Amino acid sequence: MSSARVTRSGRKILQGGRKRSGSGTEQHGGETNTLPPRGRKEVKKRVQVRYDCMEDVEKKLKWEPENWQRQLENIREMRSRRDAPVMRYQVLLSLMLSSQTKDQVTSAAMTKLREHGLTVQRILETDEETLGKIIYPVGFWKPRDIPDNVSDLVKLPGVGPKMAHLVMDIAWNKVSGIGVDTHVHRISNRLKWVKKETKSPEDTRVALEDWMPRDLWSEINWLLVGFGQQMCLPVAPRCSECLNKDICPGAKKK
Ligand code: SF4
Repeated sequence: MSSARVTRSGRKILQGGRKRSGSGTEQHGGETNTLPPRGRKEVKKRVQVRYDCMEDVEKKLKWEPENWQRQLENIREMRSRRDAPVMRYQVLLSLMLSSQTKDQVTSAAMTKLREHGLTVQRILETDEETLGKIIYPVGFWKPRDIPDNVSDLVKLPGVGPKMAHLVMDIAWNKVSGIGVDTHVHRISNRLKWVKKETKSPEDTRVALEDWMPRDLWSEINWLLVGFGQQMCLPVAPRCSECLNKDICPGAKKK
């Protein structure tokens, strides 16, 4: 019989000897010792099975979606062909403006900003006073006014958890959570990146944060927002063109 013991580092050691009759095997109080026969060299077979370290074992036990790494790589590949950075910047500005005012006012301000030139470089070259006039009547949100924690951010009018996590990431360079909007929510459910179907973006955020490595939390919002606007559309997703069509549980077959 073989016996096994697991060391603190997570290694499992199986020890076993060929069981011999006669003097080769002795029993003491329930323990079996294998002794070498006289005149022969000890033959001891030791099988060592290396298990992963405990951290890896825990990760394996934890649920994670099937194929998520391939799906993510495919989305990165699809997004890399698009004009993501400019769009990301515009989405961010639009979000920040919308937290200050109504949709119509945000829309008018965004139109004037586009006419002015809505790239990072162009905005950086524009002084605060000019920018203030362009986006008027939207109030200016100066950096010193931005709280540096989620609980204070969500107290601001129009700022929910999604916006708060995005602002923490962009303004303070701190990843406090995944910014889940309607695109991230929809795509996560289509790809089955949530263990059970979720009903709200906030539930999706909690479900994603449960398994997704933290170093992806910042990227995932930008990636899925752009992907949701151009490929995985709300009503008629373009599944036939999507690199994930064969590994996506929510793919439309037609
Ligand atoms: S296959 Fe269709 S539903 Fe799935 S991720 Fe691609 S576009 Fe979205």
